[in-house]
Amino acid sequence: MSVSWNPWHGCVRVSEGCGNCYVFRIDAAHEKNAGELRLNADFLLPLREGKNGYKIPSGETVYTCFSSDFLLEGADPWREDAWRMMRLRQDLHFVFFTKRIQRLASVLPSDWGEGYHNVTVGCTCENQARADQRLPIFLTLPIRHRIIVCEPLLSAIDLRPYLDRQRIDRVCAGGESGEGARPCDFSWVETIANDCRAADVDFHYHQTGALLRRDGKLYYIPRRMQSLQAKRAGIDYVRKKVLL
Ligand code: SF4
Repeated sequence: MSVSWNPWHGCVRVSEGCGNCYVFRIDAAHEKNAGELRLNADFLLPLREGKNGYKIPSGETVYTCFSSDFLLEGADPWREDAWRMMRLRQDLHFVFFTKRIQRLASVLPSDWGEGYHNVTVGCTCENQARADQRLPIFLTLPIRHRIIVCEPLLSAIDLRPYLDRQRIDRVCAGGESGEGARPCDFSWVETIANDCRAADVDFHYHQTGALLRRDGKLYYIPRRMQSLQAKRAGIDYVRKKVLL
């Protein structure tokens, strides 16, 4: 099971992958400006109580801050409270993705140590330049659970220098969705999948995106089919667990 927790809403575009950001697209469709950052009514969701205890029951995965970037500069005054809620709800597992991994070290809570056991950090890399810029930082930070997120994948990426199975839990890849989506070439995804397999790192092809190029042909994939088509490609990899 999983739930979403969006403590704040709005963002600032930071790199190529933000070009067709769904937060801006959806807000624009409702005549709102996603550039105006605001705290959400949901801010205290992890601590909110229902009739039988917390509204979010123990054991849930909480996808955090998917209508912003958790490490956004404008959210600095609020993040300490968000960390505190993650610390208080150690019975949940929080997952956030960021394009601002270079900010993490300067905004960690004082008791972070080698990382909270219940927090996974995803570092997004949409092309080779962003991978080479962000992943060397990502790999050296104190984080218990790391995911590399190549989505929206905008070019081929050679991830091999970064596929350390001791430090990377998983790699995800996927194309871009929505109006104006840029094409994703299946060979880019396949190369990453093969590199993960060779390095014995878990890989998940999340979704094709709206425009999939395969063997030189361009296909439009409707939204409802994008995850299914990715699954049908059959290129996910799960490393064998060693039983001691
Ligand atoms: S960092 Fe994420 S939420 Fe922010 S503009 Fe870029 S894609 Fe959108």
